[in-house]
Amino acid sequence: MLTVAEALKQIQESLSPIAPESVPITEAHQRICRQELRARENSPLFDNSAMDGYALKAEDTLSASKTAPVSLKIIDKIPAGTIASSELSAGEACRIFTGAPTPKGANAVIMQEDTEVQGDIVAIHREVACKENVRFAGEDITTDEILYESGDVLDAGAIGVLAAQGFTEILVGPKPKVAVIPTGDEIVELGQKLEPGQIRNSNAHMLAAQIERSGANATQGAIACDTLDALRQTLNESAKGSDLIITCGGVSVGEFDLVRNIVESEGQKVFWKVAVKPGKPLLFGYFRDTPLIGLPGNPVSAFVCFELFVRPAIEKLMGEKQNQNQFCSATLTQSVKPNKKRTEYLRGVYQIKNGEACVEPHLKQGSGHLRSITHINTLIEIPPGNEVLQTGTRVKIIILKN
Ligand code: AMP
Ligand code: MG
Repeated sequence: MLTVAEALKQIQESLSPIAPESVPITEAHQRICRQELRARENSPLFDNSAMDGYALKAEDTLSASKTAPVSLKIIDKIPAGTIASSELSAGEACRIFTGAPTPKGANAVIMQEDTEVQGDIVAIHREVACKENVRFAGEDITTDEILYESGDVLDAGAIGVLAAQGFTEILVGPKPKVAVIPTGDEIVELGQKLEPGQIRNSNAHMLAAQIERSGANATQGAIACDTLDALRQTLNESAKGSDLIITCGGVSVGEFDLVRNIVESEGQKVFWKVAVKPGKPLLFGYFRDTPLIGLPGNPVSAFVCFELFVRPAIEKLMGEKQNQNQFCSATLTQSVKPNKKRTEYLRGVYQIKNGEACVEPHLKQGSGHLRSITHINTLIEIPPGNEVLQTGTRVKIIILKN
């Protein structure tokens, strides 16, 4: 059996990012940047005032104080969006507002709270340092500086900076098309009456939500019955136009678990079985040329394996460079008995208590216990072992992007 890390590595190495597309900046939020984006211009573009006040020459204000103010002549008024009409000379000041270009000849701005105006004379109540309250051209960003690289996530800050730089179209990773195929003779679509022994198709809806949350588009395939023909037909339909197929159920060792057979005969099996709990029978391969991840049918296994394997796979398809699971550490608030052979991922709640990161596993951890995926925000990694992990043990957790 592969370890979780080995399995993930095999998935990541098999997949390559899909060809990028150009989108308007209004659609670029949360997408993966797929080009190097360099600053087109300085930011700020021109020297400007950081305050509402008066632009002046700092050397004119030497030893100015409230009791012995320096008087300067106001020669101009510069609201934001305009420019000064003349250059400033010694003994002069310009009324200026935040964001307005500082006039030639000025090297500082005094805030209006430190002045007093009478007619066209402003009394300066304190000494002003050269460069004070001036935002200089290029002090924030200089032309040609790298802003984002291929693989970076375009977050809200990125959208702000790129809009400020005048970018209207950006090359990004497309949203992968991920087909979800539930399998099982007992599975019934929502809204239909359940006959004895049948259960609702909850997984497909849960997985579609996880897919959308990962930045991909989910398409729902029909529920495939547990026959080779039915499975082959549904997979055939779903493979068309999909970047990735996710099946759930039918990957275990029972006689009705046929997904692996189909993958072996109509494509390629890359691996089957991972030393993970829940989710041991995880399958990865290809149906014809389309990559396929076969998730176990138990809802909790499907949920956990999606987070461990499918989300990073989707991130890889989008071209995200940070496409590994991100771990941090937290303190267990309960003791935990590890599995002897498999790395276990307990569902739990992470929170800060008295300044310390703590994590509490859900009480019910069975792979059939749907309760354990409610009101959680983390997966707790418990490496295989024989020793009980006592309360207070530091463990690794994955914070869910739920
Ligand atoms: P399997 O791996 O096909 O043996 O399925 C394992 C368990 O998961 C069984 O109890 C199935 O009924 C259940 N299961 C499979 N598919 C789904 C689904 N789409 N929604 C909810 N439960 C499912
Ligand atoms: Mg089944």
